[in-house]
Amino acid sequence: MVDLDNYEYETISTHVGDTGDFISIDNEKCNNCGRCLVICIKNLWKKKDGKIYIVPEYKSKCVECGSCALVCEPGAIDFSYPAGGTGVVYLKG
Ligand code: SF4
Ligand code: SF4
Repeated sequence: MVDLDNYEYETISTHVGDTGDFISIDNEKCNNCGRCLVICIKNLWKKKDGKIYIVPEYKSKCVECGSCALVCEPGAIDFSYPAGGTGVVYLKG
């Protein structure tokens, strides 16, 4: 079985530039449904002490699919694409 986390995306993509933060969570809106934890193919969402958060290093690992924000029914996750010229670049797309 292909290890997508360590093989597939790392071989077909790279990250360039300083994106700044482009994903945030409003924990006041979060209902702890856990959907973001399940949907993220890079496993960047975590839960600790009952609180959902995105790992600090997400900027260099996120593939910018936007799925976490799409599945978040209460709109707790804010996603916007990084500034032009920064972020993920697909090498064989
Ligand atoms: S999908 Fe949204 S509401 Fe559900 S756990 Fe994640 S941040 Fe919270
Ligand atoms: S945009 Fe996609 S890869 Fe990035 S944190 Fe959200 S679900 Fe994960």
